[in-house]
Amino acid sequence: MIPELSSILCATDVPIVVRLSLEVLQVNLGYRCNQQCIHCHVNAGPEREEMMEKSTINQVIDFLRSSPVKKLDLTGGAPELNPNFRYLVRVSREMNIHVINRCNLTILDEPGQEGLSEFLTQHRVEIIASLPCYLRENVDFQRGNGVFDRSIRALKKLNQLGYGQKGSDLTLNLVYNPLDAFLPPLQKVLEEEYRRELGQRHGIVFNCLYTITNMPIHRFGHRLTSHGEYQSYMNLLRKAHLETNLQSIMCRTLISVDWQGFVFDCDFNQALGLSLRLGERSRVHLSELKGMDLKGNPIQLLDHCYGCTAGQGSSCTGVLRESPHHTPMAMT
Ligand code: SF4
Ligand code: SF4
Repeated sequence: MIPELSSILCATDVPIVVRLSLEVLQVNLGYRCNQQCIHCHVNAGPEREEMMEKSTINQVIDFLRSSPVKKLDLTGGAPELNPNFRYLVRVSREMNIHVINRCNLTILDEPGQEGLSEFLTQHRVEIIASLPCYLRENVDFQRGNGVFDRSIRALKKLNQLGYGQKGSDLTLNLVYNPLDAFLPPLQKVLEEEYRRELGQRHGIVFNCLYTITNMPIHRFGHRLTSHGEYQSYMNLLRKAHLETNLQSIMCRTLISVDWQGFVFDCDFNQALGLSLRLGERSRVHLSELKGMDLKGNPIQLLDHCYGCTAGQGSSCTGVLRESPHHTPMAMT
């Protein structure tokens, strides 16, 4: 079975969940990336040409001006490859928006990205950086040859600039995702392991480790299919589903915007082309949501959502914690 939208749509039995107030605007600045990782859920790579234009970036800024949202989460591809990345960061920080950069680390020493680490430092941008293991062979297996050494060099530089250091306001969080078709280990336990190993082996410090479950879509989904593991992975996710995780799935407080400005309940739905629904509307542009909060709007939950609700739960900021909000959910 090919894990694309048609197969995911046919078997869903997850409940209906509605949105809380909007807290985070996640913006995908384009699918181009200097890497081509085997688990990538957006099929990013050097050949992708989709890139958010400046006019759409200005619509993002207009939305932020009209909204109480105070957090902007920039992703891609490698978001830094967008020629207007620094413009968006600069203007958002001037508006006192907290900016998160989802950084693959190797981008920091790519030709053409000179001064990027210093720019992020100067603008107090939070960095969430992928590092699926503290061992070279595992990182290079998932992310490509040479990625581990370049990532370690980048982390050392960020530490030198003050990122991840005690007492510093420069936040450096790392992201772990499993190397294959299994659920992540306990986040707290793995965080301590990372802290010890990265500290002892390389003298690297960081703030938090986020564990993220691999989504059974796109590149990872195809890998599961080609190994005959798609159904067993879906069964693993389904069996580990915890109803309480639905309280705090990230799509309750986040929207995701694609490179053309269209809006989705999350980055995974964006990768599947499952637009946010608003009333009768099946496709909504960010420019149409100015001043809107979306509270109470139903979320498009389908079978891939078990990737968020299995076990400890999973989101773009790691495991799910019990939501401070206890808004009852509509269940089917
Ligand atoms: S997982 Fe991240 S770094 Fe890897 S190809 Fe996808 S966008 Fe690029
Ligand atoms: S994949 Fe996760 S974040 Fe996205 S809609 Fe499903 S539960 Fe929500």
